[in-house]
Amino acid sequence: MTKPRNEARVLVVGIGGLGAPLCLALAKAGVGTLGLLDEDRVERTNLHRQILFRDADVGKPKIAAAEAMLKELFPRVHIEAHETRLLPHNAVDLVSRYDVVVEGSDNFPTKFLTADACKLAERPVVHGAAVRWVGTALAVSASGAPCYRCLFEDLPRDNVPNCAEAGVMAPVVGLVGAFQADLALSLLDGRDVSGELVTVDGKATEEKMVRRRRIGRRAGCVLCGKNEIREIDRGRYVADVCMEG
Ligand SMILES: [Zn+2]
Repeated sequence: MTKPRNEARVLVVGIGGLGAPLCLALAKAGVGTLGLLDEDRVERTNLHRQILFRDADVGKPKIAAAEAMLKELFPRVHIEAHETRLLPHNAVDLVSRYDVVVEGSDNFPTKFLTADACKLAERPVVHGAAVRWVGTALAVSASGAPCYRCLFEDLPRDNVPNCAEAGVMAPVVGLVGAFQADLALSLLDGRDVSGELVTVDGKATEEKMVRRRRIGRRAGCVLCGKNEIREIDRGRYVADVCMEG
């Protein structure tokens, strides 16, 4: 896919610690249209890592606050506001309207739903996640393979520490958001980053702090291998585990 940046349309799922820096990076890079999708309100405890928001935004819907800030900084960027969650009934339709989807949501159901919807809609997607000192960004091409389910087969059944319990370091989400933006721009520019996984470990030594590698396809992957997921079945997305916040 190659499109002039100012004609490019990118959907950002989740305007949190990852979504905030990556919106800034994408707007700065000249992406013409940003779709913003979130239904939460700005919380004071998240301000240090959700760098799109100010003190005065506390209590406001994130979408409205993000739109106002991005318009102020980048008057030419066109914002499409979706004050909702990505849900089984709207996911394929929403992702279909964009060239690239970037997902920085705070829970596994949204991550798997985004992965499945993008595969069905044949849209490239960049996933992002961060817990404590470690974060990852994964690029999936429009072909849909290798995919998020090659890395994480299905929703976790055990208790995974959530963001409220585990916390997350603000510099890590800033870095992961920046790498997500870089991978999204690569996809827009037609560069092959399929399966590229960037891992940021804020406690590693300097030379190991950022690692990039390509993931392979999982044998028998239900999404990109066996193609078992042919439609969005809401029963697949039932866990509610927070990853980033
Ligand atoms: Zn797969």
